[in-house]
Amino acid sequence: MSSSTSLIHHPYRPPEGFDAPQPGVFKASTVIFHSAAAMRERNWKSKSGYTYGLHGTPTTFTLEERLCELDGGSHCVLAPSGLAAIALVNMACLRPGDEILLPDNVYGPNLNFARHELANWGIAHQLYTPSATDDLSGRITEKTRLVWIEAAGSITLEFPDLIGITRLCRTKGILTALDHTWGAGVAYTPLRFDQGQGADISVQALTKYPSGGGDVLMGSVVTSDDGLHHRIKTTHMRLGLGIGANDAEAVLRGLPSLHLRYRQQDATARELAYWCLHSGAFSAVLHPAFNDASGRAHWHQACPSRLAAGLLSLALPARFDQSLTDRLCDSLKLFKLGYSWAGPTSLAVPYAVSELASGRNVPLGTQFLLRLSAGLEDAADLIADLSQALAACSRD
Ligand SMILES: *Cc1c(COP(=O)(O)O)cnc(C)c1O
Repeated sequence: MSSSTSLIHHPYRPPEGFDAPQPGVFKASTVIFHSAAAMRERNWKSKSGYTYGLHGTPTTFTLEERLCELDGGSHCVLAPSGLAAIALVNMACLRPGDEILLPDNVYGPNLNFARHELANWGIAHQLYTPSATDDLSGRITEKTRLVWIEAAGSITLEFPDLIGITRLCRTKGILTALDHTWGAGVAYTPLRFDQGQGADISVQALTKYPSGGGDVLMGSVVTSDDGLHHRIKTTHMRLGLGIGANDAEAVLRGLPSLHLRYRQQDATARELAYWCLHSGAFSAVLHPAFNDASGRAHWHQACPSRLAAGLLSLALPARFDQSLTDRLCDSLKLFKLGYSWAGPTSLAVPYAVSELASGRNVPLGTQFLLRLSAGLEDAADLIADLSQALAACSRD
């Protein structure tokens, strides 16, 4: 046997019984079958066997099962990014002629997918006010197939009437898909926040809190309903969506510290929010614990834990035009300028109010919001950084 063959067909097998706290990384495009009959009969859908790399490995099955636990569901599929998970849900659930509803503070790329891809396929969308179930109710037609929910909403961070929206959709037989990247399965359980019930589909950017390292892109779709899962899983398979085993392992490594990191980033964000509020330097501080009473009530109702993500948005006073906002951003030293939050590094992103679909909680005259996301640095150091950047923007 030549070396090139014996390197591949080497007889050594490691002994059984190696056990370690973290699961191993199994990488495979192909899976070896021990007989033609096994090849014919193996079923990957029940996770009782392996057939092909794209259909799952011990590493991805393990991650899927842990995410089911996190989201309160029974089935999970993994997508190469949070946005791919959103697109997958749309493709699996919608047909030409259907309509969907999106909250007006929805994650921007979700709206872009509706505006462009869904519109091309003859699927219409409307925006609804997430704090008002009667607004949503008035927009539902016989063509409405899916309602997207985000809790809290992107950038402006209003907490919607999660329980009201999902109850309304359940009575009307309309599917709900909840993007709970903000909650991460920690602040509330997306499929069970209402006395054991919740959204039909939960989507999360694992990119953010579950990975926690700022170095992975991945998304999950979790459901409890077998039929719904089957639809999503077959679309996922036909599209050939897969994720790398090293990335799956990175998320598995992040999960044990998820709750700890989430609580710490929440606490740091609130310290920042209190300081910002008392500094008098901002027109408003947007955060579910500081928002108007109705948003706070919805947050309390769905999150008895009263936990919140490490995000806050600051409404800059009217004198902050483009150049002064740039100066504020460029003066920050510990806060880095970047979008994908929940890693160890605190981040800042300026948003022009004129480009937001929803300015409900933004005071009149505000031209820019500064969204901050708390990393794992010491809160006092972050406050000092913000304070020196504000000083660099003072009038004199
Ligand atoms: C970041 C984010 C996503 C998308 O995640 P990616 O993995 O970056 O595609 C989706 N929804 C929300 C609310 C997000 O914050």
